[in-house]
Amino acid sequence: MTEYDVIIVGAGPGGSVAAKVAAEAGLKTVFFERGRKPGEKNASGCGLGPRMWRTFPEMMKELTPENVPSMRMAGCVMNHYLDKDLKERAIEMYYPTDSVTYEPAKQFITMNVYRSEFDPWLAKFATDAGAELRASVLIKNLVKNDAGKVIGVQTEKGEKILGKIIIGADGVLSVVSKMSGLNPRWLPNQVTIVPQYDFSADRDKIDKIYGPDGVLADAADACWWGVNFPSAYQVIFGDGFHIGLGSWLGQWTKNPISHINKLVSSKPFQRMMKAIDAKPREVHSHLLPWAAEPIKTYTDNVLLIGDAGGFPCPLEAEGVFPAMETGKLAAETAIKTIADGDTSKQALKLYEDKWKKSSVGVEFEAGESLQTLWRNLFFSTQAEKNNMEWFIPAYIELRGGHYDWSEPHIVRFRQIFKKLRSYSQDVIPFLQKYVLPVMADVMEEDMATLPFLTQMMENLKPKKKK
Ligand SMILES: Cc1cc2nc3c(=O)[nH]c(=O)nc-3n(C[C@H](O)[C@H](O)[C@H](O)COP(=O)(O)OP(=O)(O)OC[C@H]3O[C@@H](n4cnc5c(N)ncnc54)[C@H](O)[C@@H]3O)c2cc1C
Repeated sequence: MTEYDVIIVGAGPGGSVAAKVAAEAGLKTVFFERGRKPGEKNASGCGLGPRMWRTFPEMMKELTPENVPSMRMAGCVMNHYLDKDLKERAIEMYYPTDSVTYEPAKQFITMNVYRSEFDPWLAKFATDAGAELRASVLIKNLVKNDAGKVIGVQTEKGEKILGKIIIGADGVLSVVSKMSGLNPRWLPNQVTIVPQYDFSADRDKIDKIYGPDGVLADAADACWWGVNFPSAYQVIFGDGFHIGLGSWLGQWTKNPISHINKLVSSKPFQRMMKAIDAKPREVHSHLLPWAAEPIKTYTDNVLLIGDAGGFPCPLEAEGVFPAMETGKLAAETAIKTIADGDTSKQALKLYEDKWKKSSVGVEFEAGESLQTLWRNLFFSTQAEKNNMEWFIPAYIELRGGHYDWSEPHIVRFRQIFKKLRSYSQDVIPFLQKYVLPVMADVMEEDMATLPFLTQMMENLKPKKKK
């Protein structure tokens, strides 16, 4: 039987980075992929955030349209707001704002790439570092010793491969997490189902509208917010785009496909499709862990990274960077514990300590409150109360109500305030119940500014009675 220092199951972003880091340190490393090549099975997760460039600068500087042709920069995010009749009520675009401190992130929100190109590109760094990639191999089980501790993996064909440390990088339906007992199954509030359509589109037309010098100047990520469908994301690539929407398994009240179809058949969406000559190309449906916190990620000789550990961020389910970051931390843990000759769960707790302190761990400090807010706002079409019913008209009133010249402006302002006050019975309990807990989790100082706010409100007395 072959024996390795590190066995990694999965050659997605997490597995490839773990394999690269372990192999570079001289560990005998193998990573397994059930697809014929990395990325063959991965159709999702394609908007890459700036933290990837910050943490992995050497690799990421080589991500160029020459070697990843589907790449397109998303310089800003475009928000579309649709009312209950699917009529577009507002569009807005957001570029990186002044509070952004990481210099490169001032230029873009995400870089968008197809995973079928990105994953093989990333895996090559691992094989170049000396890791052995075994593609077209499905890992079906774990090998355990008499004491019940994991000591290797078993392929679909029955081959057994032994290793000192097994890293589960095998995504949401992880065999490693299940068979090691770390996560027998996801709870319905920890995992989402995401139907997604892929459209081809005319590259020149996309450029003219969304390209660097296009009409919308770099709007290459979009969010579609609706009253009667859960919020949807659109990621635009070199020659096409994805549109998808998701919600937690425990929250769907209708077939998810019916929601995405509703959006795609809406007039504003059809208009956008026509403008870039979009044609349906593929239909996908994926599970994605989206939890308030990761699951337990280590036991004797086993570590879980990326989706297998429940690492997508609790705000927007960004999962590629967390997979790469936890892959790196798991490999570093393997290097140290193998050198020390102790890969017990006590020694591997080091991994948890590392990720909790990392940029990925910090995300989960507000995990619970953020997810509760999300469930009760942008996904509230399936919740007890659909808060999007008041949120969209109230938000639009606030942001755009003054664009109306039918009355003297001061009269318009009074009309707007009156309308906004009519939402207060919804807005105030909502702020108290869902928004303040997020603020309390996020804020670094206490509410020392509140007396100042109270003072301000006291000065807010009408000058003239109407
Ligand atoms: C619809 C959708 C859109 C998303 N959009 C984004 C986005 O824009 N940006 C972002 O950052 N994240 C996004 N995510 C999340 C992101 O895709 C994942 O978090 C990320 O891919 C996790 O990487 P990973 O390496 O942990 O697992 P995966 O990418 O799932 O890779 C696991 C690999 O293991 C292989 N494998 C699985 N089981 C076995 C087995 N038993 N034997 C051998 N091989 C196996 C698989 O074939 C796969 O290659 C999205 C997710 C979904 C579902």
